[in-house]
This record gives sequence, C-alpha cells and structure tokens, in this order.
Amino acid sequence: MTPSEPGSDRAFSRIATILAAAIALVATLAVPAAYFLASTAARYAEVAAEANLAAATMSQLASRNPELWVFENARIRGLLGMLRTSQEPERIIVTALNGDSVAEQGDMLPPPVMASTSPIYDAGRIVGHVQAARSQQRVLLITGLVALLACSLGAFTFVILRALPMRLLRRALRRSTHLATHDTLTGLPNRALFQDRLEQSLAWSRRESACLAVLYLDLDRFKDVNDTLGHAAGDRLLAEVATRLRACVRETDTLGRLGGDEFAVVQVGVHQFGDTELLARRMIDAFDPPFDLDGALVSAGVSIGIAMRGATAPGLPEIDAGLLLQEADVALYRAKEEGRGTYRFFAADMNQRLLERRALEADMLTALATEQFVLHYQPQFELIGRRVVGAEALLRWRHPQRGEVPPEAFVPLAEETGVIVQIGEWALYEACRQAAAWPTLRSIAVNVSPVQFRRPGFFEQVQRALRRSGLNPSRLEIEITEGILLQDTDETLAMLRRLRGLGIAIAMDDFGTGYSSLGYLQRFRFDKIKIDRSFIRGLASDPHAAEIVRAVLRMSHAMGIRVNAEGVEHEQQAALLRDEGCEEAQGFLFAQALSADEFADLLARNLRRTPLREAATA
Ligand code: C2E
Ligand code: CA
Ligand code: CA
Repeated sequence: MTPSEPGSDRAFSRIATILAAAIALVATLAVPAAYFLASTAARYAEVAAEANLAAATMSQLASRNPELWVFENARIRGLLGMLRTSQEPERIIVTALNGDSVAEQGDMLPPPVMASTSPIYDAGRIVGHVQAARSQQRVLLITGLVALLACSLGAFTFVILRALPMRLLRRALRRSTHLATHDTLTGLPNRALFQDRLEQSLAWSRRESACLAVLYLDLDRFKDVNDTLGHAAGDRLLAEVATRLRACVRETDTLGRLGGDEFAVVQVGVHQFGDTELLARRMIDAFDPPFDLDGALVSAGVSIGIAMRGATAPGLPEIDAGLLLQEADVALYRAKEEGRGTYRFFAADMNQRLLERRALEADMLTALATEQFVLHYQPQFELIGRRVVGAEALLRWRHPQRGEVPPEAFVPLAEETGVIVQIGEWALYEACRQAAAWPTLRSIAVNVSPVQFRRPGFFEQVQRALRRSGLNPSRLEIEITEGILLQDTDETLAMLRRLRGLGIAIAMDDFGTGYSSLGYLQRFRFDKIKIDRSFIRGLASDPHAAEIVRAVLRMSHAMGIRVNAEGVEHEQQAALLRDEGCEEAQGFLFAQALSADEFADLLARNLRRTPLREAATA
C-alpha cells in the first residue's frame, strides 16, 4: 500500500537536481577561472612594467651613446645584457624603427604568449621599440590542474547536494502524502484515497468485465462506548476494529476508514454473491470476541450495506464511485433498521426511501418558513385532586400533502441535519408565548433536543424566548433526556446550572431508558423526573416494572425531586402511582395532546371544578 509518487514529487526532484547542478557547476568553474584571471592579470602587469623599464633603460643608453643605433647592433646586444630588472621577463626583443630586430634576449617561448611593447625615446624622438613577452603555458597548465581538481570536487558536491535533500524531500513527501491519504488512528486509507481506489477498481472491472462489491460498515452503538468510557477508549476500539477487519480482507481488496465509526471495503474479483456474503459474514463474526480496552471488556457489533456492479449483478446501470458508495450506504441504513449486526444488499426500492428522506429534509425548511408547525399541549395532572398543573408542548407538523406528520417521523432527521435547532427555537418561543396568554396555567414544559442543547447559543435562545414572550421564568420547564448528560459532562452541568440560574425548571425526560442516569442525578438536582411510559405500561402486570417505578419514586423523594409518570392509560396505573406517592401524571387516561383552543377550554373547566368532585374522583 505504498502511495503512488505524485507529479509534485517528480517536479520537486527535477528542481532539486537543477539547483544542485548549478551549485556544483559554479563551484567547479569559479576556482580555476579565478586563478586564471588573477594570474593572467598579474603577469600582464609584470610584462608591461618590464617593457616600460627596458624601454626607459634603452632610452638612457641611447642618448648617452648617439652612435649606438647606427653602428653597433652587437653592442646593443651587449647592453641588453646589462638590463637588470626585478623580475626578468622570459624574452625581450628590441626592434629598430624599420622593424628589424636589433637584439634579442631569451629563448623562443612556447605559446600561448602575452607581450607588451614600449617605445624607446631619444631626445624626444622614437628610435625603436622594446617588446617584453612571457609564456602563459604554465598558468594554463596549473589552471587545468586546478580545474580538474575542482571538477571532481564539484561532481562530489553535486552528488551530495542531490542525494541529501532528495532523500529528505522524498521522505517528507511520502509522509505528507501518506498523511493526506490515510487515517492517522488506524493507518487505513481515508475517504479520499478509498474513493480513488474505488474509482480505479470500478474502471478496471468495467474493462475486464469483472465484478466488484462495495461494503459499507458502521459500528453498532459506538457512540455508547465513546460516551460512557471516553474518547480514548473509543479510539482504541476503532484501532482494534481496524486490525480485525484487516485480517478479513484479501490483499487485492481495499479497506478504508471513511470517518467516525464508518469503514468500507472494495472487494474485487467477485464471482458470485456468495463471495461477498462470505466476506460480510467473516467481518461480522470478527466482532464476536469482546474487545479489551485496557481491562474493560466491551462488546461491539457491525452492520454492513453492500452494493455491487458487474457480471454478478447484471442489468444494473453503470454509475460512478460516489453513487455506488451511496447505494451501499442506503443498504447499510436498511441493515441498521432491520436489527443491526447484519448485512443487506442494495435493492432499487431502497433508493425510493432515500429520495423520500431528501424530500422530507427540504420540506422541513419550507415548513418553518410557511408556519406548518404547530404545538399541541398535553395536560399534566396532579394525581391527588386531578387538577391540571401543567402542560407539555408537543410539536405537530401539518404537512400540506402528507397530512399530520408525527414528531417521531421528522425529529430524528431534523437532528441529523441540524434543522432541529431552528425548529426547537421556534417551539420554545411559541410555547412561552402561548403560556403567557394562559396565566392560570402553572407551568409549561418544552422538549429540547440534545442537538439543540449542545449548539452554542442555546442559552441565548432561552433568554430570548423569555424576554420576547414576557413569561415568568419560573413557569418554564425544559425537558431534556439522559443522552444530554453523557457527553462533555462538566460543560453540560455548567450549562444546566446557568439555565437554572435564569429561574427556569429542568426536568429529566424518559427516565430509565438511558444508561447511567443514577450517577448524574447526584451531580445535578433536577426539578422533576419523568418516568418513561415503558415502565408505566407494565405497572399492573409486570412486578419488575412496578419494582423499578417504586425505586425511582423512593430515590427521587429522598432527593426532594418531583415525579411525573408518563403514558398513564388506565385507572389501575393511576391508582397505583398515587398510592406510591407519585405527584403527577400525564397520559391518554386524562387527556391526549390538545390543540391550543381545546387546551384553553380544559383550563377554564379545570378552574370551575369544585373540590367536592375532585374528592369523589380521587
Ligand atoms: P415525549 O417527550 O416522551 O413525549 C410524550 C409522547 O408520548 C407524545 O408523543 C405524547 O403524545 C405521547 N403520549 C402521551 N400520553 C400517552 C399515553 O398515555 N400513551 C401513549 N402510548 N403515548 C402517550 P408525541 O407528541 O408523538 O411526541 C413524541 C416525541 O417527539 C416526544 O416524546 C419527544 O421526544 C419528541 N418531541 C415532541 N415535541 C418535540 C419538540 O418540540 N422538540 C423536540 N426536540 N422533541 C419533541
Ligand atoms: Ca417530553
Ligand atoms: Ca417522555
């Protein structure tokens, strides 16, 4: 799995080579050239000085012996011998004006030769010339030798300069390429590289008329591990999962981590569905032994969605890597829905579901803008006296085509896409506004999604709703689920305390369905606990459920927390709860969620109720 050397690597290599060559060339040429120029300049100056000196000496001699030029060339030759200069040139020639050489000293010089000529004066007249000359041969020889030496030094420099940075550069490039294409935690190809491999495999299988499968994996309940054991444990689990999955795939397959707890495999050379099923089974089975996370044994599972292309799955339209991965994702969604720890092949009708989800997503934004959301109010009753003591605001979506869409059908998607933040802000304000118009209502409860709660700005949302509606903060209660307490606990507790500081009440919703609720109850004192309706349902028939309800009531009362029982549908349940000291309840026995008008009527009737009738009902 070595990353292919990208074009930028080759370009870097070329630039580094050119730079190294330039430096080596300069080093090679500079030394001999400098030596040659310096010695030539020095020699030329010497030769010129020599010629001047000789000419001056000759002028003196000539003016003292006027007959010198006419008669006695031999004497001049003798006189030449008298020229004593500090640095004797290798050859001096004296010429008469007619160009005849009248005297010579020194031997013929080997070329190349440099020469300098100076006139000889006698009483202001030029009477002849002196030429001094030297051979450059030695300088050239030395320059050649120096150049030779510099050349080998230069070549050496070049090799060093090229080899050294290229090695470092290559390593750095390889590392950064690896980082850019691999996931640091597991060392597996990341989404970008995986997609690239998938594209290549897809093109290859098209060419070879072969078949390939994409398996999209998602860990089951990974969030629980992260939330309860911490992120470090979550990371260790992911690394261990990667190791186990690696052992399941063949060398020709690509396993990658697409992000979070999502992995994927490209399986090539598939001959029949069975090949892919076998791989999927093997990967699911790999999760059987529990994971050892520093002593804590944790069991985890995986769900797999599969999409295929090629001869094994004939008749399917050609698609690109992104869409194929999306098909596998849709199949994964189905696998999760149908019980987790299993795999599903993509089928065309699944796409329909995906399209519907997309449409719903778009519709929600329109719904906000066109006021399709409304709130209904489910009354909350005191179990003794059965007076209305509060209301829970419940979201309803009046969809122009689909009719009334229940919150379960859109709240989870709204949470996934984040639209819940806007929807929740609207619901919060609307509930406050409505409650302010019902002064006889003691409190209004509003559901807050964990996504909305964790978004920065939630505190300001609450402040704004209170200020704009003018509702007394003591009449607002927000309902949060245990899920909120599982993440960033210190931050969450600080936020809860800030909210409490506004004077509002905080209720724990769906109590008993979460994970480690009891511990958190000691760290934050909730104003109310709402026992989930799954416990109320079994109250009369299931001794286990009754025992849990009793325990929750005892514990809450010991801590001075009010308890609300949700989903009370039968008199028997209400009686049991009242006898156990449960303060309030809501459920179909008393009333469903009512429209604002219906609720206002109920509130008016509630005021007119006499204590006598209450006693009769109780
Ligand atoms: P929840 O907070 O547990 O709300 C109570 C749900 O139980 C309501 O369903 C209510 O109609 C239903 N219910 C009440 N009494 C009974 C009963 O006696 N028997 C049975 N079987 N059910 C009963 P609804 O209105 O469909 O709301 C479902 C969930 O949607 C809520 O569960 C809550 O989690 C969420 N939800 C509703 N409104 C909002 C909202 O404004 N914001 C957020 N974030 N979530 C909301
Ligand atoms: Ca609720
Ligand atoms: Ca609830």
